[in-house]
This record gives sequence, structure tokens and C-alpha cells, in this order.
Amino acid sequence: EAKAAGRNALRFFDPQMQAAVTQRAALVSGLREGLRKQQFRLYYQPQVDRDGRLLGFEALLRWQSPQRGLVSPAEFVPVAEESGLILPLGLWVLESACSQLAAWARQPASAGLSLAVNVSASQFARADFVEQVLEVLARTGANPRRLKLELTESLLVARVEEVIAKMSALKARGVGFSLDDFGTGYSSLAYLRRLPLDQLKIDKSFVRDLLVDPNSAAIAHTIIVLSQTMGLAVIAEGVESASQRDLLASLGCQAYQGYLFGQPLPLEQAEQLLAAQPLAPAAAADAAPA
Ligand code: C2E
Ligand code: MG
Ligand code: MG
Ligand code: MG
Repeated sequence: EAKAAGRNALRFFDPQMQAAVTQRAALVSGLREGLRKQQFRLYYQPQVDRDGRLLGFEALLRWQSPQRGLVSPAEFVPVAEESGLILPLGLWVLESACSQLAAWARQPASAGLSLAVNVSASQFARADFVEQVLEVLARTGANPRRLKLELTESLLVARVEEVIAKMSALKARGVGFSLDDFGTGYSSLAYLRRLPLDQLKIDKSFVRDLLVDPNSAAIAHTIIVLSQTMGLAVIAEGVESASQRDLLASLGCQAYQGYLFGQPLPLEQAEQLLAAQPLAPAAAADAAPA
């Protein structure tokens, strides 16, 4: 049997399984090398208000691999999570995002922009997560009020008291929190109610089916009403058509993100977009010195 075979146990896998294991190992070493050789990039996807005016961006990670081309996070984030590489990678994302925020703050035309940054559950679970974020904010000079951390319900596997304590510590310094992919997880509303969130983000699967599936429309509506009841902001992701936007607007949605308003863009193109349109009044007012 496999156990008795010891180091030769691999030959008991079927060839397909063995190929998958080899591929995964190659991906992990590729990612490690990518970190060392600075092959990761942030792309910026616009977030807009009801009138389509720019509020800020979501930073989305890309891997510019010499061998593989531009690799989507859907392909490598799960592997980065399993291998622990998400920790150095997540720190790189946070540093790059905060440096960019600080750079934008130095230009009047971009000073009010906010930046949403995805945080993985294992990154958040680190005992020193709060210190790490505060340290990066201090080092880059980014304004914590412009930083919005996107969490998913998967992080709620941790003790809720611990999650609340970490969020509260960062919130006290001005950092905002958005709950990404909302509606797709397993957490109970009783649980969520206790989290010091600022925003719910309607998952793109509901937005996609909005016009064809009454249940998806009902869920989107419920999330919007829930956000209003809880005093939270709400944003819809994956908005691709004007009819989706119009339906969401009729349900009371306040903010939007999706291909209708812009793809995730390399920095240069994101800044071109910024130059072409004024900031939303909300973002502009927020940028005014206190
Ligand atoms: P997410 O945070 O929910 O990001 C939204 C995803 O939807 C992005 O995919 C974005 O490109 C895509 N999207 C935006 N607008 C549309 C649209 O109109 N239609 C459709 N069909 N899709 C749209 P992306 O960039 O491939 O990222 C996938 C996921 O990878 C993200 O989902 C997030 O969970 C994860 N991710 C991305 N960057 C990071 C990161 O820096 N750290 C961590 N931990 N995870 C990240
Ligand atoms: Mg996100
Ligand atoms: Mg999402
Ligand atoms: Mg997602």
C-alpha cells in the first residue's frame, strides 16, 4: 500500500493527479520568483456614484509573468493562499496601494480618491495584521480615511471577538471596511450585525442575473435595504449594462463598479480616466482640508 511504499508513494497517484501536483508546484515557485523579481502589478477599476462620477478605485492584483503573460488573481490567489505566499504578496499589495494613495493625495485633482484593497482571510488572521496596516500607512504617508479594506465572509471562521477587535482598532484610525461578494457566504446576519463595517458590496453573480432572475433581483434589493437599515453604504460590482445600473438605481443603490464604467486599468490609464473627468462631489468634498 501507499504508506509502506514511502517515498515511492507518488506512483500510486493517477497520472492526471500527478500532473496537477506538478503544475501547482511550478505555480508556487513561479509566484515566489515573481515576488522576488517584482512581477506583480496593481490594476485600478473605477468605482462611481449614481451619476457615474468617480469616487475611487479598487486595486486588483495581476501577475505579469514572462512565461505565462498577464495572470488573473482567480488563477493564483487560491494557490498563494494555500502556500502561505499570500502573506508577502498581501503586504506588497498594501504597500503599493498606500503609496499610490499618498501620491494621489499630493495632486489636488486626485486628492479625494479612495482606494479599496482586497485582504485575504489568512492575511487578516495574522496576529500582527493591525500593526502591519498601521505601519504601512505611517511609512507611506497614506491617509487612512482613503483606504477601504475589502473583506469576505470567509474571514469569519475566526473568533468573531477577534475579528471585531482588529476591525475596530483600524477603524479608530479611520480605515474603512467593505464586505466583498456579499450574499455568497455562509455567515448569519446576527454575526454580521456585530461587525463594524462601512459598506456592503453586492456580489457580481446577483448583478449578472438581475434582469433574468427575480430571485437575484430580490437578493440585490434585500442587500440594499439591509445596508440602509444598518446605516451602511452599498456598492454593486460587476455592472456591465445600463439596464442593470438603472434597475439597481431604482432599488436605491448608491455606488457602482463594473465594465460599464471601466475595466481594471493599469495606473497610467486609470490616471488618464481621472484627468478626463472630475471627481464625484462626495470625493471632492472629502478632499477639502478640514
Ligand atoms: P473581487 O474582489 O470580487 O473583484 C471583482 C472581480 O470582478 C475582479 O476580478 C474584476 O476584474 C471583476 N470584474 C469587475 N467588473 C466586472 C464586470 O463588469 N463583469 C465581470 N464579469 N467581472 C468584473 P479579478 O481582478 O480577476 O479578481 C478576482 C478576485 O481575485 C477578486 O474578486 C479578489 O477576490 C481576488 N483578488 C484580486 N486582487 C487581490 C489582492 O490584491 N489580494 C487578494 N487577497 N485577493 C485579490
Ligand atoms: Mg474585491
Ligand atoms: Mg467581489
Ligand atoms: Mg470575488
